Amino acid sequence: MNPYEILGVDRNASAEEIKKAYRTAAMNNHPDRNPGDSKAEERFKMVAKAYEILSDPTRKQSYDRFGTTDDSRASGGMGGMHDIFGGIGLDDALRAFMENFGFSSGGSSQGVIQGEDVTVKIDLDLEEAALGGRRELEIEKNSSCAECSGTGADRNAGTESCRHCNGMGKISSTRNTLLGSFRTVSQCPICRGAGSLPKKMCSSCRGKGFERGKSSIAVDLPAGLTKGHYIRLRGQGHHPGQGGVPGDLRLHINNIDYGPFKREEDDLVYPLTISYPQAVLGADFSVPTPEGTSLDVKVSGGTSAGTRLRLKNMGMGRLNKRSRGDLLVEIQIHVPAKVKRSEKELLMKLEESPSFKAKNG
Ligand SMILES: [Zn+2]
Ligand SMILES: [Zn+2]
Repeated sequence: MNPYEILGVDRNASAEEIKKAYRTAAMNNHPDRNPGDSKAEERFKMVAKAYEILSDPTRKQSYDRFGTTDDSRASGGMGGMHDIFGGIGLDDALRAFMENFGFSSGGSSQGVIQGEDVTVKIDLDLEEAALGGRRELEIEKNSSCAECSGTGADRNAGTESCRHCNGMGKISSTRNTLLGSFRTVSQCPICRGAGSLPKKMCSSCRGKGFERGKSSIAVDLPAGLTKGHYIRLRGQGHHPGQGGVPGDLRLHINNIDYGPFKREEDDLVYPLTISYPQAVLGADFSVPTPEGTSLDVKVSGGTSAGTRLRLKNMGMGRLNKRSRGDLLVEIQIHVPAKVKRSEKELLMKLEESPSFKAKNG
């Protein structure tokens, strides 16, 4: 598979067509839409990587001419597909997708070090999933050092000019690529563009800028979450130190306990087992709701098994909307496995009665 085949475009496709194909493929295979589907996740990563190559004119040209790109050579491979499509993580693919389609809020500006994301899996109970709620979580992460505010420098010792770049913050170098050599100006890796370095390291974190520890965080869960969804909390992940910005906290919804209910998108189905005489004559029942209360339900006479009684707006909250789905009470009829002789006689009498004749009986 080459990047063109992965996106389903031909080699003469315009940048616009390539972008459109990527958008469609990425949307179809997005993990949010395919929770728990590892094949979709692989495809999502593949299309992200394919687009990464084809959206970069230099790499596209290099691929068109040599069937490979810079990065596959650099990784020491023989230019095979494995090298091209290796090395992209789901986080990278998601970030690329967000950035390409402008869903990103903020994002990392060039040169700023971004901390790693922290991923936490949580299980929800029915009420939390249906109505939302607030969770207090305790997570283990690298937090900004309180002493130096994450810079790693002793704030009283001052700074001195970086010797590596002579205080410029930038270094120019010549980069040799398959397409010739380019003179590039890049950020100084020692002072990371600042042009200066602290004279003394922070003694509290020994210059790292972060401290490992437990942090508590309160998270508001929206109503209507589904297994496989995740919530991204910007800036609540690991702090990278070195004056960088923290990564994100990603809360994955691992499982939801629906109790006696079955979920059908935004509706909840509650199986209510009633007796055969109740089905024929009608009766009143009480059914549980997701919020832990109960509701009275009237089953009218002549109700068949499989009938669903709809209780409006008592189901799951709809994600990012104010409305709720419905609660469907599904009637099931209890059939006794054994009956007494006297009961059998009653049933045989009923069977002869015309009202009890079934169509196919
Ligand atoms: Zn420097
Ligand atoms: Zn510190």
